[in-house]
Amino acid sequence: LMPDPAATQAALIAQREAAMGKVWHFYQSPLHLTRGEGAWLIGADGARYLDAYNNVPQVGHSHPAVVRAIARQAAALNANTRYLADSTGAYAQALLAQAPAGFDVCAFVNSGSEANDLAAQIARFATGRHGAVVMEGAYHGITAATVELSPLTKAPPPHVACLPAPDLYRGFAPDPATSWAEATAHLASAGHAPAFLMVDTALTSNGVPDQPPGYMAGLAKAARASEALVIADEVQAGLGRLGQFWGFAVQGLEHVDLITLGKPVGNGHPLGVVLTRRALWQAFYAQCEVFSTFGGNSVACAAGQAVLDVIAREDLLTRANRIGDLLRAQLRDLAQAFPLIGDVRGRGMLTGLEFTSDPAARTPATAQAARLVEAMRENGVLVGTAGPHRSAFKLRPALTWTESEVAFFVEALRKSLKTL
Ligand code: PMP
Repeated sequence: LMPDPAATQAALIAQREAAMGKVWHFYQSPLHLTRGEGAWLIGADGARYLDAYNNVPQVGHSHPAVVRAIARQAAALNANTRYLADSTGAYAQALLAQAPAGFDVCAFVNSGSEANDLAAQIARFATGRHGAVVMEGAYHGITAATVELSPLTKAPPPHVACLPAPDLYRGFAPDPATSWAEATAHLASAGHAPAFLMVDTALTSNGVPDQPPGYMAGLAKAARASEALVIADEVQAGLGRLGQFWGFAVQGLEHVDLITLGKPVGNGHPLGVVLTRRALWQAFYAQCEVFSTFGGNSVACAAGQAVLDVIAREDLLTRANRIGDLLRAQLRDLAQAFPLIGDVRGRGMLTGLEFTSDPAARTPATAQAARLVEAMRENGVLVGTAGPHRSAFKLRPALTWTESEVAFFVEALRKSLKTL
């Protein structure tokens, strides 16, 4: 007897509410998934969905090489970093080989939040300061320290100052030196000096706005001039999302002190990373012995290594640029027929698609964007919104997309726009 999908869905929702408290779902009718395969997710009812939203499976859902590496290592050994194991040091070296000159320490944790938390601790210890500067609307994590660095989810405390996020679509192009001066003046008025600047180098939660040329590089330069450290949060932008390995390189930052990685680094297997320089690390470690039970465990490192291998073997950075450009070109064509599409922006496999109810005034089409998320699901594509008005799609598909996934996406959007 086939289970009734509606009854199963209702039972799963009830079970969650009973055992997990309030859980925020995508979609008015929560989606029950049972499988992932490359660019696609498969629902309990057998429906296939093109995943254009989930930025964790960088090389595609359940990539066979990653699954094999995890299974093989789990069968052989899963040890922590207190012991020598074959996969750990080699993976750290492989990541450092991608980092800028002078980066020679790789610390493993379990999530993007933990990576940012540790990076903030290192920066605060090195500078002897407590203040922090972040972008307005940023998200950096869930820990006590990183939630304070996440104005998206919580109003920042007095020791955290926010920089204005650019919005070139609406003609707002802040000046980096002025922005930095205002942020640090705000900190000073609360008795704080900046220990660090922390930025998501793709400004993902801001809706992937285009940045004024040199904006982020200018902020990093100003931070250095104030003797604050620069933390590049590469949880979203790193590992080739923007068509280069690092987002900070795309944004022209010449100097960073700490790099954090999460989400895609294990393609879904929990793993977070802090990359830094030995002098910063040794000084910090001398006063606080850092150890994470699961951070850098043998299986997580095997997953991470497999992801790096797949990116290289399948030449996914080249593909990310080619397919991302193709997607944006086709979306710009579609915008000719649908003025609701106000702006198409992004790089590599990160695209911002902003909707406007009035192209002249550039009024955010927040309600329409929300309806489009549901309509896209009906047409077999998973997307999500971002930005200060939640009027933009942030599209972060697997780097493995081909021309046929682009065609499917664009056709689904055309159909969805017609239903509005
Ligand atoms: N930094 C950025 C830029 C993120 O997008 C996220 C997650 N959305 C985090 C940090 C936190 O990562 P995690 O959820 O793995 O703790």
